[in-house]
Amino acid sequence: MARTHILGFPRIGARRELKFAQESFWRGESTEADLRTVAAGLRRRHWQLQADSGLDSVATGDFAYYDQMLSLTALLGALPRRFGFDPAGLTLAQYFELARGNREQPAMEMTKWFDTNYHYLVPELDPATRFDGGPDWFFEEIEEALALGLKARPVLIGPVTYLWLSKTHEAGFDKLSLLPQLAQAYQRILARLKARGIEWVQIDEPALSLDLDADWLNAYDQAYAALARSGVKLLLATYFDSAADHAARAATLPVQGFHIDLVRAPAQLDAWRHALPADAVLSVGVIDGRNIWRSDLRRALDTLRPLHAELGERLWVAPSCSLLHVPVSLEHEVRLDAELKSWLAFATEKLGELRVLATALNQGETAVAAQLEASDAVQASRRQSRRVVNPRVQQRLAAVTPDMAERASPFDTRIERQRQALQLPLLPTTTIGSFPQTTAIRQTRAAFRRGDIGALEYLQRIRGDIELAVRKQEALGLDVLVHGEAERNDMAEYFGEQLCGYAFTENGWVQSYGSRCVKPPVIYGDVYRPEPMTVDTARYAQSLTDRPMKGMLTGPVTMLQWSFVRDDQPRADTARQLALAIRDEVCDLEQAGIRVIQIDEPALREGLPLRRADWDAYLAWAVTAFRLSAAGVADQTQIHTHMCYAEFNDILPSIAAMDADVITIETSRSAMELLEGFGDFDYPNEIGPGVYDIHSPRVPSVDAMEKLLDRACEVVPPQRLWVNPDCGLKTRGWEETEAALANMVSAARKLRGRLAGQDVLAWKRVARQQAVPAAHHHSADCACNSRAA
Ligand code: GLN
Ligand code: ZN
Repeated sequence: MARTHILGFPRIGARRELKFAQESFWRGESTEADLRTVAAGLRRRHWQLQADSGLDSVATGDFAYYDQMLSLTALLGALPRRFGFDPAGLTLAQYFELARGNREQPAMEMTKWFDTNYHYLVPELDPATRFDGGPDWFFEEIEEALALGLKARPVLIGPVTYLWLSKTHEAGFDKLSLLPQLAQAYQRILARLKARGIEWVQIDEPALSLDLDADWLNAYDQAYAALARSGVKLLLATYFDSAADHAARAATLPVQGFHIDLVRAPAQLDAWRHALPADAVLSVGVIDGRNIWRSDLRRALDTLRPLHAELGERLWVAPSCSLLHVPVSLEHEVRLDAELKSWLAFATEKLGELRVLATALNQGETAVAAQLEASDAVQASRRQSRRVVNPRVQQRLAAVTPDMAERASPFDTRIERQRQALQLPLLPTTTIGSFPQTTAIRQTRAAFRRGDIGALEYLQRIRGDIELAVRKQEALGLDVLVHGEAERNDMAEYFGEQLCGYAFTENGWVQSYGSRCVKPPVIYGDVYRPEPMTVDTARYAQSLTDRPMKGMLTGPVTMLQWSFVRDDQPRADTARQLALAIRDEVCDLEQAGIRVIQIDEPALREGLPLRRADWDAYLAWAVTAFRLSAAGVADQTQIHTHMCYAEFNDILPSIAAMDADVITIETSRSAMELLEGFGDFDYPNEIGPGVYDIHSPRVPSVDAMEKLLDRACEVVPPQRLWVNPDCGLKTRGWEETEAALANMVSAARKLRGRLAGQDVLAWKRVARQQAVPAAHHHSADCACNSRAA
């Protein structure tokens, strides 16, 4: 008998019950007991769903009041010392303070969980960190499941992954030195589970799907030797990528089973089959835990049948990873049309798919003939539907030639033409796109969506907001203006709603962090742009001013990255379709007289594969998609892009290869990193390193921004430098925004004044004459480097 199980279930609830309970508790409108009641109800409901689907065990310990890594930190008692909390006595209120900060302490750092859009709280370790245990919530939840008569299968993130994801502020401190103690703490936790009669514990080690050096591989040996002493059976779970490289090594660990992700990395099966010890369990993730499509059950069975013959009850069937990354249930999707809905499976529906697979294996396929036929029908309907395959889009894609991704002239030629056309001062000032999304703006959009105001009224109000933004920017003295994005609720959704091939769910919420959920659009078919999306708005905005107005678009990689994407064609193909749709918009904006067009790619880096060996292939198609979207314009039209993360040094060559005329990037929080990166890599085009952090309402001083600009001048010649904030200003208020931008403009003007006496262009002539070596530091030649002046 093949067994079925899941690695974890979404905790937010089909109607985001957890979010509303958390937020009400934070606002002081409900008690801790209220929140605990909601949480217990959700756990019970989710376990019952698992049990009702015939799973052999229910995943417990995957619940978290905010985040699973934070909950593990609490369970271990490894709280950041700076909060001064007693681990054993940790209250729920304190737990939330760790996540959200309090009056004295900033929150723990948050970062993305592997290549997902889920964010975890990064453990903060130091040489004195102890793992003496914290609150008993984890054990209490297991008791809850046991009390319901369920077979609890607890889930823990493993010790090596936990350490791998931790950070330390102590220079020279090797976090691996904490491993022995950490492993002992796990051993104690596991022993307690064993004593409670728990048979199996799932230990998640997604780090085993990464590139690991010998020290980290040794850490697995060390840690698991200790864990094994607990006597409980361990299922070591890997996911998100192939762990084939480490399979032979992992197979020697004293654990009783392994889980592998066959959706992301089907090719790893052979390596694991060979390596699998004679009595070990192999759990295979054949249902996509990261996407929302119904599985091709027939194909899954083709994989499972021979495994079942070989392994018998040592075969476990599962989703590829925790279902945390998909929405809870299709039940509440009432507006999705029937055909599209028939193609989808959210977490709850995936439990049903597992059941069909198990029945097919254990009782024969005739027992589920109807379900398998239904699955075939879904696959056939997706293959044949005219909504999925659009011959015109396919033809256009097939006709794409490499030259379509090339601008007409090289950057040096283009930039001269752009300077002629735009007549901007040295160190031009601009912003990233959005301006404060005031309550009035949000209300306008909501009223229009509800139908409370008509299209004309809506247009007039949005135009009013645009005009206000333009007047304020002119008064501030900014050089390249933006319309402010008042009409956009979300930079990906706004475009998705206007493109064909996209659908939007009503309740397809996925936890991003804490109480924050996102509702990614679904790209189900060939993407194309039926009509212009932003041209009227841009034209209107440009009509209000003589200064250049930037057209503002979201790039193909970001559109892709922030959606549930098709699984029936490579991501690269979907990216190219998106690129063509955006290219049409770029060309139309140019036709409409827009001379500067920004194509945002804040998610480019997020798409990086987990394994280094896969980076080049990804970067190649991602960069091509961007170039395809941008390259249809004349030399004089200036293409900007924007990215908002500071760690881009390792992909700088690819960012340069995007060949945007100007890139604006987040840098103010890490000026040093920028400098290091640019010291090593001679970034060829123009660049706007963000000079102020938009994440806080603090108004940076003229001085502070001028200093950052001075430092930027050390590595970027001033005639290639732009002055702008780190990112869009939609989350800020007008008051602080105007104050900060006024200071920013002053800083640019002061620096311009200092540079005016110098022949800055002389730098460029000299640079041209001198052959520039690849790793050249500009600082020696930089005109603005003479600070004493
Ligand atoms: N143009 C967008 C804005 O300003 C960019 C947002 C982003 O980088 N995430 O809001
Ligand atoms: Zn940004």
